[in-house]
Amino acid sequence: MTKRFEGKVALVTGASSGIGQATALAFGREGAKVVVAARRVQQGEETAEMIRRNGGEATFVKADISSAAEVESLMRATIEVYGRLDCALNNAGTSGNLMPAVDVSEQEWDSVINTNLKGAWLCLRHEIALMVKQGGGSIVNMSSVLGLGGTPIGASVYVASKHALIGLTKATAVEYSKQGVRVNAVCPGFIETALIEVATNAPGAKEQLIALHPIGRLGTPEEVAEAVIWLCSDAASFVTGHSMVVDGGYVAQ
Ligand code: NDP
Repeated sequence: MTKRFEGKVALVTGASSGIGQATALAFGREGAKVVVAARRVQQGEETAEMIRRNGGEATFVKADISSAAEVESLMRATIEVYGRLDCALNNAGTSGNLMPAVDVSEQEWDSVINTNLKGAWLCLRHEIALMVKQGGGSIVNMSSVLGLGGTPIGASVYVASKHALIGLTKATAVEYSKQGVRVNAVCPGFIETALIEVATNAPGAKEQLIALHPIGRLGTPEEVAEAVIWLCSDAASFVTGHSMVVDGGYVAQ
């Protein structure tokens, strides 16, 4: 049976753990050659190795996506190794520290925005340029249900970064749709990964988060990966500028 991404090259940032790792594995299973990007070398190499053990093809490239120079090297390495770029998931992100909005320092603001928003933008501009040159491609930006509304848990900078990412998704989707580049966002509810530890450490905190999801549980990285894979596939050829919730009913309430 032909795999959906046979002959295609997919880049996943933040693929050393969580949602990024699950999506990189899914791309590998579907036949794509996968570029695994992150800062932690051991974990990133491990993701690439997992893909290869499953019979796929993958290369780890160490990159801090908040650095313009490192993003440039990442894109150069992608082209040097695989010669093209068909799909990209801009997933690398940080929760930042939870605190009331009035207590957020300039340093905290810069740290979260430089990763979640500037980092995605740095990747996006290279990805779009490569895809336009090739005649098309599909990009997904990892937003959040906190890109669609606020939260009282003390995550104002994160919320701002994820809302802005949806704006960037719409703007670039509209600008480049005629050149064959589709840009969409995925908005997960709370997913069982290391990222939500800041919000689940206190006693009873996890139960409170679960209660926000009508489905009665948190999501898994694999459930988010499914949405990314579909948006990147030809099955979604008329879908662009969309923000797809994968949230167990969180925003439907
Ligand atoms: P993880 O902490 O497991 O993953 C975060 C990933 O981002 C890691 O692979 C990390 O790799 C990478 N990363 C962070 N900063 C950088 C950087 N500067 N440069 C390169 N890579 C970086 O958490 P998740 O899988 O949950 O998070 C993935 C994305 O999903 C994030 O954008 C997050 O905001 C989003 N999301 C998560 C939700 C959740 O409930 N878990 C809900 C909604 C959205 P390394 O440290 O090796 O660089």
